[in-house]
Amino acid sequence: MAYSVLIVDDDSAIKESVEEYLKLMHYTVKSASSADEALDLLSGFKADVVLTDIMMQGMDGLELTRKIKNTDGVDVIVMTGYSADYSYEEAIQAGASDFIFKPFRFEELDLRIRRVLREAEYKKERNALLKELEKLAITDALTQLYNSRQFFSQIKTEIKRYKRYSRPLSLLILDIDFFKSYNDTWGHLEGDKVLMKIGHTINSCMRSMDTAYRYGGEEFAIILPETRLKKACVVGARIKDNISSQTFEPEPGRKVKVTVSIGATELAEGEDFSSFIRRADKALYKSKETGRNKLTYFEPSS
Ligand code: GH3
Ligand code: MG
Ligand code: MG
Repeated sequence: MAYSVLIVDDDSAIKESVEEYLKLMHYTVKSASSADEALDLLSGFKADVVLTDIMMQGMDGLELTRKIKNTDGVDVIVMTGYSADYSYEEAIQAGASDFIFKPFRFEELDLRIRRVLREAEYKKERNALLKELEKLAITDALTQLYNSRQFFSQIKTEIKRYKRYSRPLSLLILDIDFFKSYNDTWGHLEGDKVLMKIGHTINSCMRSMDTAYRYGGEEFAIILPETRLKKACVVGARIKDNISSQTFEPEPGRKVKVTVSIGATELAEGEDFSSFIRRADKALYKSKETGRNKLTYFEPSS
């Protein structure tokens, strides 16, 4: 893949000779005679590296470097003469990735561009890896929902938001009914398929601002920001009915139903996360006690 370079220099002899050399080296090259022209070009051209003179009429190369780094983070190499009043430190502080003194040999310039490109490539890979690790750290591998660590972190964040803006906050906790027996009868792998499908169902039934978590082995939680208890119960009932209407087939020709019990509640004024979760758990326990495949809600005052 050809890398692209934008050359910015008000000295047309330098600009043209560098351009010619870099084209020979198979770069895609564009050039500008001023910083303003360069910024204009960059709005429609994706450069991998900008090579700019420092001393130019109008906006100088350092100001251009700052502007480029602030907007799209493209790597900048600055060029300057030995006699100029600009220092290496100033260029690096402005965000330049490298610095080259004029006059330079073209081979040196090429090497510097390649090094900057290589480092940019490493940086991109490192960032992608970090992002992936961050995602793994908060995701449950089986269901692809968030994990319990993220649940506790998010519920604390939502409670802070509740305190700041006084917006209602509701919570649903859901547990699969007689799941031990399902596992004992059909095997753990078939049980895992149920967990995956339920995770998927929860995701498809909730609203875009809600977030779902695999809270324990066969327990799920849904945090519903900006939501009163009544509305949370509607979402919970939708999930419960959707699950009970599905059929699982742990063996060919064997149709099995799975149900869930749900506890719902809304955050009370001044309450902390543990008391909030405890009340949702109690509501879930009541659903279990009174027959399962049910949703029970407890008002914040109860
Ligand atoms: P109840 O209706 O009272 O909730 O009964 P239950 O059988 O669902 O509850 P119990 O707490 O006795 O059993 C939970 C079961 O969940 C036991 C365990 O084998 C199963 N389980 C927990 N985590 C996983 C998992 O990751 N995969 C599978 N397949 N099963 C799991
Ligand atoms: Mg359980
Ligand atoms: Mg259970």
